[in-house]
Amino acid sequence: MNEDAKIKVLKISAVLFAGVCVFFVTGRIISDFYSLDDEFIINVLSILLGLFASIVVLLFMRLMAVKKNGEKAIYEMAYVDKVTGMMNKNRFITVAAELLMKKEFKYAAVVLEVSNFDVINELCGFDEGNTILKYIANLIKSNLSEGEAFARAAAGRFNILLKYDDNEGIKTRLEMIMDDISEYKRIDKEDNSKCSVVSCCGVYVIDEENIFDNYYEMEFNISHVFGRAKFALSDVDGKYINYCSFYNEETRSQLIYESDMEYALKNKEFVVYIQPKYDIKNHVLTGGEALVRWNHHSKGFLPPDKFVPLFEKNGFIVELDMYVFETVCAMQKKWLDMGLNPVRISVNQSRMHLFKRDYVDNLKAILDKYELPASLIELEITETVAFESIEVISDVLKRLHEIGFKISMDDFGSGYSSLNMLKDLDVDVLKIDKAFFEETANSKRGRDIIESIIDMASRLGIETVAEGVETVEQVQLLQGNGCDVAQGYFYAMPMPLEDYENNELINKRNANSIDQ
Ligand code: C2E
Ligand code: CA
Ligand code: CA
Repeated sequence: MNEDAKIKVLKISAVLFAGVCVFFVTGRIISDFYSLDDEFIINVLSILLGLFASIVVLLFMRLMAVKKNGEKAIYEMAYVDKVTGMMNKNRFITVAAELLMKKEFKYAAVVLEVSNFDVINELCGFDEGNTILKYIANLIKSNLSEGEAFARAAAGRFNILLKYDDNEGIKTRLEMIMDDISEYKRIDKEDNSKCSVVSCCGVYVIDEENIFDNYYEMEFNISHVFGRAKFALSDVDGKYINYCSFYNEETRSQLIYESDMEYALKNKEFVVYIQPKYDIKNHVLTGGEALVRWNHHSKGFLPPDKFVPLFEKNGFIVELDMYVFETVCAMQKKWLDMGLNPVRISVNQSRMHLFKRDYVDNLKAILDKYELPASLIELEITETVAFESIEVISDVLKRLHEIGFKISMDDFGSGYSSLNMLKDLDVDVLKIDKAFFEETANSKRGRDIIESIIDMASRLGIETVAEGVETVEQVQLLQGNGCDVAQGYFYAMPMPLEDYENNELINKRNANSIDQ
C-alpha cells in the first residue's frame, strides 16, 4: 500500500472510531443520567451524536489539510525552483551558509552555465529548454555527496557548492558532469533535429577569510563567492566547449579593471599612443596607428591585451574606441591647424560597433565636431568580422566610405576566412598579420604566399601594410614583393602623441630613416 492510501485508511478509521465512541458513550450517558428507558430514542440520539462527532472530526481533518497545503504552497513559493522542482536560490543561500559555517570541509563555489541556452530556447523552444534544465538538475543531484548542495541561479545557470580537495579533483568531477550534460538527446521530436547542450564551469575555491561565524555575514558572502566563480566563467567566453575555469589572480585583476573602467575613462587614464607607418620604398612617414594604453592609478601602465579582451566581452570597448577616435580627431585637427601636414591615422574598431545602429552617425558627429576631413582617418576592422553577417558589414562599410573614411582589414591571414572576406568586403587597405608574416617568411613557400597576397591585393587596388616588421631582411623581402607600407619596431615603437608630433611629424616627415 502506498503512503497516500495508508493515510486515507487512517483518516477513515479515525472518523469511524470517533463516531462509534460517541455512539456508545452517548447511549450510556443518556440511559444513566437521564433515566430514559425508551431504547429507540436512545439509539436514534446516539446515532445522531455519533454522526455529528464523525462530521466534526472530518471537518477538523479537512481544516488541518488545508492549512498544511497552504504552508506547503508558501514553502514551495519561497524555497522551490519551479522549473527543476528542487531547492531554489534563496533556500540554497541558507543551506550553503550553514554548510560553510560548520567548517567540516573545505569547499569550492561552482557556477555551471549552459553556454548555448539562448540558442536552445530560440531553436528548440522553452519547453525543451526547461526539460534540459530538469535533466541537468537531476544529473548534478546524482553527482553530489552528503554535505554538498546546488540550485538553479538564473535561466541556464546553476550554483553548486562542492567539497574541495584540489583543483584537479574538482575539474575531473565537473568535466564528468559536463560530459554527461552534452550527452543529452532530444527525444520524441518529429523533425528529429538535435539540441546539443554545451556547458562550462567557473570555480572559486572558498578560503577561510570567506567563512564567517555570524550567520547574516555568511549569507551575504555567499553571493560574493559565487560572484567570483561566475567571473571566472568570463574566461570561458568564446571557447564554446565543455570547459572549466578557475578564479585566480588574473581574474581578480580583471574584476578590478572592470570596476575601474568608467572612472578611468572619465579621469583620462586611457592614453593614446601612435605607431608610425612608413612607405616601404622611400621610408617616408605615410601614416600611423592609434594604440591605446591604460595608465591605471594603482596597477601602473597596462598594455591593451590586459584590458581590451575584457572590454570586448563586457561591451565597454565601444565607449573606449569612441574615446580613442575622438582623441585622434582632436589631435589631427590640432596638427592641421599648426600646418604640420598630418598623415592618415588608423584607429582600431571593435566588431561590436558594426551592429550598433548609431555607429556611423556617432563617428560622423565627432568628425564634424572637429571639422576634420574623413580622409585623415582610417578604420581598422579585424578579419574575424567575417563570422558575422556579411550583408550587415557590407552596408556599414558602404556608409563609412560615403563619409570618406578609409577602411583597413586588420590581422589579415590570422584567421581562416581571409580570402572569403576579401572577396565580399570592400576595403582599401590590407594589414598582413605579423604572426603570419613571421612564420611564413622563413621558407620559400611562405615567401611565395606573401608575394601572392601582395600581388592579389594590388590587382584589387588594395594597399598592403606589413605589420610587425622587425628586421632589415623583412624590409628587403617586402620591398622585393611590392608591399606598400611597413609598420614595426624596425621603424618605430608606438609612442606618446607628443613624441609622435615632435619626432615624426616635425622632424622626420621627409627624412630617410633606413640606410641600406
Ligand atoms: P594590433 O591592432 O594588431 O596592433 C598592433 C600591435 O602590434 C600593437 O600591440 C603594437 O605595439 C604591436 N607591434 C607593433 N610593431 C611590432 C613589432 O615590430 N613586433 C611586435 N612583436 N609587435 C609589434 P599593442 O599596442 O599591444 O596592441 C595590441 C592589440 O590591442 C592591437 O593589435 C589591437 O587589436 C588592440 N588594440 C590596441 N588599441 C586598441 C583600441 O584603441 N581599440 C581596440 N578595439 N583595440 C585596440
Ligand atoms: Ca590594428
Ligand atoms: Ca594587427
